[in-house]
Amino acid sequence: MKKLIQKLTDTYSPSGYEEAIRDVILAEIKELAEDIRVDALGNIIAKKGKHGKRVMVAAHMDEIGLIATHIDESGFVYFTSVGGSNPRYLPGGHVRFVNGVLGVIGSERISKANVVQPIDKLFVDVGATSAAECPVQVGDMAAFVHPNVQMGGRLVAKSLDDRIGVAVAIETMRRLKSGPNEVFFVFSVQEELGTRGAIVSAYGIDPEIGIGLDVSHTGDTPNSIRRELALGAGPAIMVKDSRMLYDPKVVAWMEGTAKKAKIPVQREVLVGGSTDARAIQVTRLGVPTGGLAIPCRYIHSPSEMIDYEDVENAVKLLTALLSAPIEL
Ligand SMILES: [Zn+2]
Repeated sequence: MKKLIQKLTDTYSPSGYEEAIRDVILAEIKELAEDIRVDALGNIIAKKGKHGKRVMVAAHMDEIGLIATHIDESGFVYFTSVGGSNPRYLPGGHVRFVNGVLGVIGSERISKANVVQPIDKLFVDVGATSAAECPVQVGDMAAFVHPNVQMGGRLVAKSLDDRIGVAVAIETMRRLKSGPNEVFFVFSVQEELGTRGAIVSAYGIDPEIGIGLDVSHTGDTPNSIRRELALGAGPAIMVKDSRMLYDPKVVAWMEGTAKKAKIPVQREVLVGGSTDARAIQVTRLGVPTGGLAIPCRYIHSPSEMIDYEDVENAVKLLTALLSAPIEL
């Protein structure tokens, strides 16, 4: 699975420009589902199984990035965030535009070195010397560049939010026998801009149960706010985030299955943010929905960190959940 994760995180596909990552995923899953289609917004919907409950499992394939808003006379590219890029993580970082142009994010020396400069004071230097020579135009989008770095049992890479969820979904498709449920694996677009891909795919699938796969913040770094989640202590079963309460019946089903299979899990109450699960929950007449999260440090930075054990345990749990008939 490490190779798969590397392939997924080495691909540049900011929200709305998911073509590159879609091709990588389609090549990976072509033998793993009975029916695969791509909808009008670009979501991949892969179906496995013909009978039983209709379950939608969603992992988003887009990643956060930047979009050019202005090119100045010297060829510096000003930008704004696409999907919550945080200005404190940006200066000194490298980006790659969708057209392949590479750049470095610059900021000016200011008298108060500890002050985070707002995003409109930062710029991308693509090596141009004038506006006419600049290979980027207003509206061009970029993603972070970061190598995939192994640190023992841990991995640091860009876009683990949510390529690690994508990896969990693909690996589960590989291990899942065509079982007693009709499972729709959705690799969604534009999650970082408000779960837009999941909104339309959930409407189309009309599932009876939903599961969102994403990352969630840990509380195990030196000055973290007080929260429970820790790397390596198991995948997190979502109980609440800032936009939804996860269905208690689904939480109980997930916890019961984990207990039976002796898979370590944690409970997660996410204070800031939400996921594709919310889009599934409120589609049509409403869907009992749960969420499984991979604990992750430094989310929405170019250097997100996860623990492989959590990934393996998430695959085991999701496979166990989908392998048996579901009665909530
Ligand atoms: Zn995410």
